[in-house]
Amino acid sequence: MGETCHRRETCRLCGGKGLARVLKLEPTPPANAFVAQSAKDTDQERFPLDVFLCEGCGHVQLLDVVDPRVLFENYVYVSGTSPVFVKHFEDYAKDVVSRFSPEPGGLAVDIGSNDGTLLGFFARAGLKVLGVDPAKDIAKKATEAGTETLNAFFTPDLARKIAHERGPAAVVTANNVFAHIDDLTGVAQGVRTLLAHDGVFIFEVSYLLDVFEKTLFDTIYHEHLAYHSVKPLVRFLKANGLEMIEAVRVDSHGGSLRAMAQLKGGPRPVGESVAEAIAAEEKAGLDKAETFQGFSEKIDGLKSDLSGLLRDLKAEGKTIAGFGAPAKATTLMHHFAIGPEAIDFIIDDSPLKQGLFTPGMHIPVLGSDAIAARNPDVLLILAWNFAPEIIEKNAAFRDAGGRFIIPLPQVEMI
Ligand SMILES: [Zn+2]
Repeated sequence: MGETCHRRETCRLCGGKGLARVLKLEPTPPANAFVAQSAKDTDQERFPLDVFLCEGCGHVQLLDVVDPRVLFENYVYVSGTSPVFVKHFEDYAKDVVSRFSPEPGGLAVDIGSNDGTLLGFFARAGLKVLGVDPAKDIAKKATEAGTETLNAFFTPDLARKIAHERGPAAVVTANNVFAHIDDLTGVAQGVRTLLAHDGVFIFEVSYLLDVFEKTLFDTIYHEHLAYHSVKPLVRFLKANGLEMIEAVRVDSHGGSLRAMAQLKGGPRPVGESVAEAIAAEEKAGLDKAETFQGFSEKIDGLKSDLSGLLRDLKAEGKTIAGFGAPAKATTLMHHFAIGPEAIDFIIDDSPLKQGLFTPGMHIPVLGSDAIAARNPDVLLILAWNFAPEIIEKNAAFRDAGGRFIIPLPQVEMI
């Protein structure tokens, strides 16, 4: 496998060694590893995509860890490019400010700050802001655009340095990164070091309960090392001097958990949302291996539905294009074996992806003008969580007789 991927032997949250493999997905290259024309005829290395359940704390996770330098240094996802995410972060910042009323002039630090969208809203609310992001270009651009962003991985050392130079933080946020980092203990220790005594730590992660309830198996890819639920997190935070005070379900990424924490013994009471979430997780059997058996069978059923439909359409001579090239499309396309024989090209609105080829399958990514230029019969919506918006935006395609396929949570043709 080479040194770009290693398998860890212990639970990422509790350090336990009792780990049961509960789901085996098809190996893929890194989900965001789009390639240029010059590399499109070269096979990309694929890494195992197996999901494990910790028998000690119930944490669900990948153990095969792809080197983060491979995954994130040339990351192409920029949150500000999507109006849906900009609105999400605006609401997020409002929620934090209204719940916790941080003092104006207090410091807000965002771990994995991307282009600084969230911090921009904190700055408007009167906070001083600082981003931390390991992606070189994105950090540089964010700084140039006015949101100071350190190009680094967030570690206890960096947290000490920030606290020393700028004082403790009133707000620390980490969105869709708490699932991305192998050394979560290092992050938690860093947050503990950086937080003011009355500071709050808010992080958003894809929520395992949503992954189950809505069959969001395509959110499983190498960047997402952890599939969080509240019960194992409460125990983990406690072991690292932190205390979860709220656990709120939000819509982003098909269903996420917004967890809020303070230093252990901090000034805020623990909200009822925490116990309620744990009760719902226990009811769903999230900590039991047999629960995953049913999940796996459901995925198999979807695979057979979708490949049958695509096969029939091809047999009728229809041309099919994909719509959206999000990271999760890599998992969906590999696990369901959807390649260039089914899909001619993929439309994506991000100019950063246009002109490149999708990870592993090497399907060309084009701008939306290709719909009119190449006139496919069917659009398979790979960014299916935006299906209503995509269908509305492409009304002309539909009016001219075009059809859409939504692959999840069940296969649907519109
Ligand atoms: Zn564990």
